[in-house]
Amino acid sequence: MHELSIAESIVDIVRQHVAPDRLCAVRSVGVKVGAYSGVVPDSLEFSYQAITSGTPLAQSMLALECIPFVVRCRQCSRESANADGIILCSACGSFDTIILSGRELQMKEIELEDMAPEHVHPEQP
Ligand SMILES: [Zn+2]
Repeated sequence: MHELSIAESIVDIVRQHVAPDRLCAVRSVGVKVGAYSGVVPDSLEFSYQAITSGTPLAQSMLALECIPFVVRCRQCSRESANADGIILCSACGSFDTIILSGRELQMKEIELEDMAPEHVHPEQP
């Protein structure tokens, strides 16, 4: 299953960036998923939950940001947001387009639970 190996890669990256004793404080992992990246968001979330279950990351979740597939036409300069990776310009019908977005699959952030508030300037008793 494609998404399972991607979820494993995400967990690997989290473990590289977060100290072992802080893994249980990870709340969410932000990932950009392009509409034409070949990844099914629901399946990726399910895989992530499955492989983190029973680990220090069990409380964490994926925060997926879906990026639409957008092309820009070289003929009329218009941008089209197309489903399923279709590169056709919806304005003039040209196939002479460049892909602007939609193939992304990248981690963008790891969000940790806030630590107990630290009082930099303690209030006077
Ligand atoms: Zn066009």
